[in-house]
Amino acid sequence: MIQLQHLSKTYEGSAETAHHALRDVDLAIADGDVFGIIGASGAGKSTLVRCINLLERPTGGRILIDGRDVTDLSGKQLLELRSSIGMIFQNFSLFQQRTVLRNVTFPLELRHEKKEPREKRARELLELVGLGDLADRYPSQLSGGQQQRVAIARALANNPAIMLCDEATSALDTRSTVSILKLLADINRDLGVTMVVITHSLAVAQKVCNRIAVIDGGRIVEEGLTAEVFANP
Ligand code: ADP
Ligand code: ADP
Repeated sequence: MIQLQHLSKTYEGSAETAHHALRDVDLAIADGDVFGIIGASGAGKSTLVRCINLLERPTGGRILIDGRDVTDLSGKQLLELRSSIGMIFQNFSLFQQRTVLRNVTFPLELRHEKKEPREKRARELLELVGLGDLADRYPSQLSGGQQQRVAIARALANNPAIMLCDEATSALDTRSTVSILKLLADINRDLGVTMVVITHSLAVAQKVCNRIAVIDGGRIVEEGLTAEVFANP
């Protein structure tokens, strides 16, 4: 369970330009949810999601994960939190100089896992995402959809309980979008990974999310079951 309580984030500028990216956000994301965060560009979606793994520090409020207040974590405990949360991005963020396999082993190298077990694990993950044959390619040799699969495999390397997806399909064509959404839904169902899905696309939200929060100007303006949110007049 992820709980955000009275969360706020102000990016400091001068007094006039200080920007309130989040204002008093309360949100509860249950284990096993595919939770959509939707809203226009600049609404605060990325800031909200980046607070969950503390890539952004909130300027007010608390973040609880499984009941534990993580808001002020630092050092080793912060690294442990981050490694229990996978993240994927719109632009894939792969290491261009590393093969597909060595992109996926990267998080395991950080944890000083030995070469043989980490490569075994990476190959299993590449099978899972349907790229078993492409382990020795480089990212530039893959399609966008394939690159996002590599990023998903890398995000799963540490067995995360939570995955944060920031516009994960926004750079993809319709066909790749459908197949990546299906993969994310399978991972949610089969591995029980809680997904937080940022999207500006109502179609994407409607397709994969069981719950949705709509954010506007840094505030949650609507929240509920997907069917209920979209049923509103
Ligand atoms: P997107 O619209 O695709 O989410 P953005 O252009 O909003 O991407 O943000 C890209 C990066 O730039 C993020 O890391 C964000 O924190 C940062 N960023 C966005 N707006 C500003 C800003 N006004 N000043 C400084 N950094 C910003
Ligand atoms: P979204 O993901 O919904 O596009 P963001 O969370 O990226 O929105 O941004 C919310 C607001 O905060 C935007 O107005 C953006 O310009 C601003 N912002 C984001 N990151 C930064 C930053 N690092 N510095 C200053 N302003 C930022």
